[in-house]
Amino acid sequence: MNKVGFVGLGQMGGPMSRNLIKGGFNLRVFDLDPKAVAAVVKAGAKAAKSPKDAATGADAVITMLPIGAIVEQAVFGPDGIAEGMAKGALLIDMSTILPLDTDRIGKRLMERGFAMVDAPVGRTSAAAIEAKSMFMVGGSAADVARARPYLEKMGEAIVHCGPLGAGARMKLVNNYMSCVVNLLTAETLTLAEACGIGIETALEVLRGTPAGRGHINTTWPGKALKDDPKPEFMLDLAFKDLGLALDTAAQLNV
Ligand code: NAD
Repeated sequence: MNKVGFVGLGQMGGPMSRNLIKGGFNLRVFDLDPKAVAAVVKAGAKAAKSPKDAATGADAVITMLPIGAIVEQAVFGPDGIAEGMAKGALLIDMSTILPLDTDRIGKRLMERGFAMVDAPVGRTSAAAIEAKSMFMVGGSAADVARARPYLEKMGEAIVHCGPLGAGARMKLVNNYMSCVVNLLTAETLTLAEACGIGIETALEVLRGTPAGRGHINTTWPGKALKDDPKPEFMLDLAFKDLGLALDTAAQLNV
């Protein structure tokens, strides 16, 4: 329970592993970058020679790596995690990867008698430093319960999204909305500025309407998710307004 292997000590894995050490866990850590390893060793971890070495004797192994192919290599490659893990040990993959990669890695691990949950991370590295991350977790209820004590030291919100792979899928749903809304926010504030409206004024207005308060907090719980199809604002008027906004932006060349 107390011994954790941690592979991938970058912008996210670095602070996450340090928070586990602060929380009382004994860590054996591995990263291709010796500087990343040194920083976590300074905080109290032991340096491992390979992913296999990090996993040897661990109750749980955490991976926080860039992409699925790298996770798969770290788990099943030569000197990989699967060679070091004890039967029944738990892999917690916290990387953001293709859900089909999660499904395949999980199947291969389970065939060999290991357990796995996927627990990708919501929020940025600033939240990871403060142990205020959110985790979207996929796996059986029993495996998620096993992962909780580790996750609780690294974050403040744990949402069990469904079976293995559900966390990876929810993470993409979240990031899709996050990226698109962020881009839309940039476009919106650019248009406000081009119209000669100060950012502070634009923010005051936008924060007081569904535009800024978020349709996910207003329109959806208030109507759509209640199966209430009665319009409060007509589609043809919305269409007119989108056209007016685009015409105005085109006149301003933004
Ligand atoms: P990063 O590039 O800072 O860290 C990745 C680490 O993995 C590096 O230290 C690298 O040396 C190491 N690494 C690469 N290949 C390796 C291998 N084969 N064996 C061992 N170590 C290896 O990336 P990050 O920002 O920490 O992101 C990690 C994952 O978390 C990504 O999937 C990312 O999409 C996701 N994520 C990032 C953020 C963020 O704000 N940075 C937030 C949520 C999720």
